[in-house]
Amino acid sequence: MVQNPSFDQLQLPVDLYENLKSLDYHTMTPVQAQSLPLVLEGKDVIAQAKTGSGKTVAFGLGLLAQLDVKKFRVQALVLCPTRELADQVAREIRKLARGIHNVKVLTLCGGMPFGPQIGSLEHGAHIVVGTPGRIEEHLRKERLNVDHVQTLVLDEADRMLDMGFQASLEAIVAPIPKQRQTLLFSATFPEAIESIARNVMREPERVTVESPTEESTITQFFYPVDSEDHRRQAVGLLLMQDKAASAIVFCNTKRECQEVATELSNQGFSALALHGDLEQRERDQVLVRFANKSVSVLVATDVAARGLDIEDLDTVINYHIARDPEVHVHRVGRTGRAGSHGRAHTLYSDKENFKLRLLEEEQGIAVEREILPPASLLNDQPRRPAMVTLQIDGGKKNKVRPGDILGALTGDGGVQGSDVGKIQVFPMSSYVAVKREVVKTALQKLGAGKLKGRNFRVRKLGR
Ligand code: ADP
Ligand code: MG
Repeated sequence: MVQNPSFDQLQLPVDLYENLKSLDYHTMTPVQAQSLPLVLEGKDVIAQAKTGSGKTVAFGLGLLAQLDVKKFRVQALVLCPTRELADQVAREIRKLARGIHNVKVLTLCGGMPFGPQIGSLEHGAHIVVGTPGRIEEHLRKERLNVDHVQTLVLDEADRMLDMGFQASLEAIVAPIPKQRQTLLFSATFPEAIESIARNVMREPERVTVESPTEESTITQFFYPVDSEDHRRQAVGLLLMQDKAASAIVFCNTKRECQEVATELSNQGFSALALHGDLEQRERDQVLVRFANKSVSVLVATDVAARGLDIEDLDTVINYHIARDPEVHVHRVGRTGRAGSHGRAHTLYSDKENFKLRLLEEEQGIAVEREILPPASLLNDQPRRPAMVTLQIDGGKKNKVRPGDILGALTGDGGVQGSDVGKIQVFPMSSYVAVKREVVKTALQKLGAGKLKGRNFRVRKLGR
């Protein structure tokens, strides 16, 4: 095994370096080894590495190396998706800063009273760590001055975008001097990150740390069915077998979509249909619930599923083999992304044999017939999704923002930030996903608490 590189290869200020030794940090983790030289040179850096890989130290050392403690102004701003993560980052930065005298690190998070935060801001700080909604609010009320920020960190950028903080991030970045270093950290790399990076970073260097198991794979299975009843039953069996948290069943027609979705719901699956006959509002809801993992099966036509940006599908099922081999490849390619292992199941009848041969020819593969799982599997109850969607009857038009929802949920005695999933705010309504275990508390907090000084109706969608 190759020894990890040591911190003494870096041009670190001596007090930071000595302190690392006292913390027992001797060698750098891979993401630190790749990003720290760039960070210390002052470059903008985008770093992608999985959770627990030591990203905080990578940006923490970077912003501390730049810091001028004698200037009592906010010189670094770190944005995190939740209060817990912000607290964790602030603790780690304080640890790293122990070698330097009097570094003041302040956390500013939603769900906490404003008074003490305003007091602390009046006393001043060198480094501010916080959640986007609250930081934006302090900026708007001119209590936080970012004129001297030289390092901006977007930590867990993918989570922040998931929680609907894109607009807040843009509002926060606008008043920060252009002459700054921007560091972006993320475990995954959806398209929305690229666009944020384009808007707020300057010629960023990319650092990607792949873990050895991260190779993505798709395994395809083909099953002959001898009747339409058999086909319908097969879908349930395959979903039961895969225990998929997210699966798409592709159908060729709208009617088929609706029928299959209804049948799956009757069997106890959390399944919704997505096709061209839905109204915009229904379509939004279906997509919200599937993307935030409170519905596990989407039954869709190819057209309706176009442009769907779902990263981690466990399973794709072709209810019929696609008319066109290219469409088949496209459907199957939606699973097995981002280092995961995907499964693609295709059902076909005798009448569809020629399409199968076409596929074999075009792809240069030999299809092997598989046997469906035993029918007894259907006696079990399907697994319920990990998340539940709460719908709030207030949205952008009511000035409701993601930070307000997160704050109301996690404020005193509320749920943990880690129990909150995607937040999406539409003009007239908003949706937030929470872990199934905390639904009751979440409903209470949202129902009792006020959003923008008002009580909005809140309800749980689905079972
Ligand atoms: P990430 O943000 O990538 O999920 P963290 O920055 O929270 O990961 O780091 C995970 C853990 O690893 C923390 O407990 C941190 O103290 C520890 N750690 C980070 N870098 C080092 C290092 N170079 N040597 C030893 N431990 C480290
Ligand atoms: Mg982290």
